[in-house]
Amino acid sequence: MENGHGGERASELYDIIIIGSGPAGYTAAIYAARANLRTLVLQGEQSGGQLMITSDVENYPGFEEGIQGPDMMEKFEAQARRFGAEMVARDAVRVNFARQPFMVATEEREYEGRAVIAATGASAKWLGVASEQRLQGRGVSGCATCDGPFFRNKVLAVVGGGDTAMEEALFLTKYASEIHLLHRRDTFRASKIMQKRVKENPKIIIHYNTAVEDVLGENAVEGVRMRDLETGRTETLPVQGFFVAIGHHPNTSLFKGILDMDAVGYLIPHKHTMTNVPGVFAAGDVTDHRYRQAVTAAGDGCRAAIDAERWLEEQGEVDLTKVMDPAEWGEADVILRGEAEQD
Ligand code: NAP
Repeated sequence: MENGHGGERASELYDIIIIGSGPAGYTAAIYAARANLRTLVLQGEQSGGQLMITSDVENYPGFEEGIQGPDMMEKFEAQARRFGAEMVARDAVRVNFARQPFMVATEEREYEGRAVIAATGASAKWLGVASEQRLQGRGVSGCATCDGPFFRNKVLAVVGGGDTAMEEALFLTKYASEIHLLHRRDTFRASKIMQKRVKENPKIIIHYNTAVEDVLGENAVEGVRMRDLETGRTETLPVQGFFVAIGHHPNTSLFKGILDMDAVGYLIPHKHTMTNVPGVFAAGDVTDHRYRQAVTAAGDGCRAAIDAERWLEEQGEVDLTKVMDPAEWGEADVILRGEAEQD
């Protein structure tokens, strides 16, 4: 059957299309592909998710010495490929969940899937001050791991009071001569261990109750204008780099008006990991503003793949003869796809 793109439809019909390639997406792919489901991962143009901009991951079980975020994602991807998951490093730009099979499109082409797992994650937020965007790549950064080495022996500012800000500030001490950590309140929300490391690091100077009013500089960052929220006094801090680490927003614009989401845009699962659209599942940070850990996202990806597999079985869409050892056949073969269609 033609699909309007010149190819055979059969060659493009997947059992599961996974949108996103962070820990949730790749784990879902490992489980789905290992269950012999034809699995496509639309990885996005910047594959690997937020761990690609994370340095040491010290709290993922099994890596007792820690592992670099990008190295970890490479392993996840390789493991999914090993079981036959197909990878396309393109962004999904359009979906149609109003018909079966579902359609997910990149700029170039459309893919069809009997089930979809949304694992699009969350992205870093920006402050929204006047010069922040203009000076991006010229000293303003959202990623210490990516840009830290450009700032050897420089004075830097990091904004935020969560674990990301602590992690970025600590990472930058490898390169910078001095780091000013600017936080709008008088307490951090970061974990105690990260706070302790930051407070004990002689290169990091903490400014509590401090708001950033603007980043200064024409073609490169030259300073930060900051306001003391207790006294109202404004001050210019000379810095050559400015790192924003103030949290994330969910990447769900693709699903607006289609999948149920909360006021901020996080997807709301209805039954286990299934969304309001039967056959469409959600996993990882795209549903989670509370834990947001690699290990919880991976766990979620596993749950979504298992839920999707079971849902497909219920629909009679999975040929279990491909999946199960014949010795284990029992009642299950009554739901083989062919028979289900005859019913
Ligand atoms: P977060 O915990 O939401 O913290 C965001 C920080 O930015 C808060 O301190 C917040 O201030 C501040 N902030 C937000 N909007 C701001 C604005 N417009 N202007 C100034 N400051 C602003 O985000 P996160 O640090 O990215 O961490 C997210 C999750 O990932 C957390 O669960 C964290 O534990 C986890 N994480 C873990 C690790 C690790 O274990 N190695 C590393 C990174 C992240 P307020 O405190 O005043 O709200």
